[in-house]
Amino acid sequence: MSDTASKSHGRKSITASLKPRSLMDGPERLARAWSAQVITLVPDAFPGILGHSLTGKALKDGLWQLDTIDLRGFGEGKHRNVDDTPAGGGAGMVLRADVMGRALDHALPRAPKGAPLVYLSPRGTPFTQAMARHWATRPGVTMICGRFEGLDQRVIDHYDIQEVSLGDFVLTGGDLAAQAMIDATVRLLPGVLGNEASTEEESFSDGLLEHPQYTRPAEWHGRKIPDVLMSGHHGEIGKWRRAMSEELTKARRPDLWANFLNRDD
Ligand code: SAH
Repeated sequence: MSDTASKSHGRKSITASLKPRSLMDGPERLARAWSAQVITLVPDAFPGILGHSLTGKALKDGLWQLDTIDLRGFGEGKHRNVDDTPAGGGAGMVLRADVMGRALDHALPRAPKGAPLVYLSPRGTPFTQAMARHWATRPGVTMICGRFEGLDQRVIDHYDIQEVSLGDFVLTGGDLAAQAMIDATVRLLPGVLGNEASTEEESFSDGLLEHPQYTRPAEWHGRKIPDVLMSGHHGEIGKWRRAMSEELTKARRPDLWANFLNRDD
């Protein structure tokens, strides 16, 4: 690979070199930041939106780290080709198994132990808040962003890669999906959001959509903030919010509502 194929964002080099290897096991291991590795043909698109706002601050503060691996660096021949025509014919190009295999053989030894290996794919398991919560408990994640018609199936089978979808639509590449999923995961890491409680009360955290939110001014275009929210009665406010959550979920997401009614707790 070329020297420029891998790029680190955040404070990885500082945090990784502070301690000798023997100290990385046990409790010291926890001190290592959550780490996302992304194999992509557009490394310049990273950190992208993740470099801004709360995720960007957390990246600078070393609460997580991001490494992009440029697939082009593992390409074939002088032109570093990464794709070829689909076996059996048809439109478009497919990412080659040997090229992605080399990128993975470079990436996997550098991934923290226990990090899920994910291929962003419209055919994958739909991404959920529960998946974000699970990934946040892992030491990081390794993601493969597809392009063109996608990735040779043999790579997915050989490395036993989990396919995850951002939703039932087709993007031109996996990069936006990767950034969306990393965002959803990183904001759950301790210390990333200012107010820890805010991830416990938001949409999906208890299987329901969130209640409506309001802020000043108290009246706008003749519309008032609901009286109960201005009442200062925390019990009543809680009840109202819960009722609104249930009503919205029932009306908008019968699938979530059915799961909520069937929950075992
Ligand atoms: N031919 C494929 C689509 C390829 S889209 C099909 O019909 O299933 C090109 C790349 O964009 C994919 O390899 C994947 O990495 C990414 N991608 C597209 N839609 C996506 C989605 N909904 N979720 C996650 N990744 C997606």
